[in-house]
Amino acid sequence: MKILVINCGSSSLKYQVIDMTTKNAIGKGLVDRIGLQGSVLTHRTRSGEKHVIKVEIPNHTVAIKLVLEALVSPEYGAIGDLKEICGIGHRVVHGGEKFANSVIINDAVMKALKDCIELAPLHNPPNIAGIKACQKMMPGVPQVAVFDTAFHQSMKPNTYIYGLPYEYYKKYGIRKYGFHGTSHKYVSQRAAVLLKKPLKELKIISCHLGNGASISAIRGGKSIDTSMGFTPLDGLMMGTRSGALDPAIVTYIMCRENLNVDQMNDFLNTKCGALGVSGISSDFRDIEVAAEQGNIRARLALDIFEHDVRQYIGAYAAVLGGVDAIIFTAGVGENASSMREAICKNMEYLGVSIDREKNKVRSEEVDVSKPHARCRVLVIPTNEELMIALDTHELISK
Ligand code: ADP
Repeated sequence: MKILVINCGSSSLKYQVIDMTTKNAIGKGLVDRIGLQGSVLTHRTRSGEKHVIKVEIPNHTVAIKLVLEALVSPEYGAIGDLKEICGIGHRVVHGGEKFANSVIINDAVMKALKDCIELAPLHNPPNIAGIKACQKMMPGVPQVAVFDTAFHQSMKPNTYIYGLPYEYYKKYGIRKYGFHGTSHKYVSQRAAVLLKKPLKELKIISCHLGNGASISAIRGGKSIDTSMGFTPLDGLMMGTRSGALDPAIVTYIMCRENLNVDQMNDFLNTKCGALGVSGISSDFRDIEVAAEQGNIRARLALDIFEHDVRQYIGAYAAVLGGVDAIIFTAGVGENASSMREAICKNMEYLGVSIDREKNKVRSEEVDVSKPHARCRVLVIPTNEELMIALDTHELISK
């Protein structure tokens, strides 16, 4: 059985075809600059061979059509016939409070997705466009929505309600939702396999540290707290996002810099974080190089990030009442061994003790702890596409 996984952004579309027998991607790619000049589809075969198709791609329907053509290309395609695709799994950013699990898409689900647009105005519209395009191009093939927010719906009200008038929760849906749920769910399930223990018995802190970054406290396979909030701006300082701030700073900067609401929103999402502090880049690799060359602001950006992550680990250890495993995943978590080492320094109080040699690992599933360590530190590459394919497969097989 083969599942097509689609992740639609406003001007981009990522896709993978996953063979559910082997759980491997047999073809994948990216459509970039949809609706803009210079649109392009870059397809990669199972062996990683690259095929670039430069053609006008005015909308998501045309993008999906091109993806499907690429998938069955006799020259470099992944499958012989589109009939081999049994289901399509879509990444949807925001499911609000309506979805605590992935769902098969029907008319009622489409309406609910539209109702969530207010909560994710930048993300949900392209997700919906991608679903509609697939419905048009692949009629009759079951489609599933997998939400970034769903995994965190297990949080309790004392975790997700903010210190605001309660009516605002009822009126506007203002609460903590949390994001990266598909990734936190996937790596926590892998952790149980790696540790050879039932997930139900584990207390896990999952650190998804990429360009966007969030941490989740997971007990018995369920999210009980997470660092992102009403939007993905909250929590850790990130590549370009500020992370948590004293809320008074927002109005203060708006007044001082004469920024309107949209400008402030853009500022907090794209000009802050590691980019704003370092003044160099949002990319941790560039910042690490600059810090090694003695750039003080680059060093500061890395130190802030390390401090933020350590703070959440401490907080979530308290929330969980102990920790069996800390997981590092996503671009920085999987690759930046020096950052992992810095974060885990002086964490003996939690039973953390990492092996410097083992910690040199990159993008591999490894327990990097010393043998005696009470709390295991795991590096687990995330695979949101596989998690989406697994959910899709499960729902359409029922
Ligand atoms: P996203 O999916 O949120 O765009 P990723 O999970 O791909 O992000 O992570 C991107 C981040 O990972 C970038 O900041 C990049 O610098 C960082 N990264 C990737 N490889 C390394 C590495 N070897 N060392 C340090 N940081 C890395």
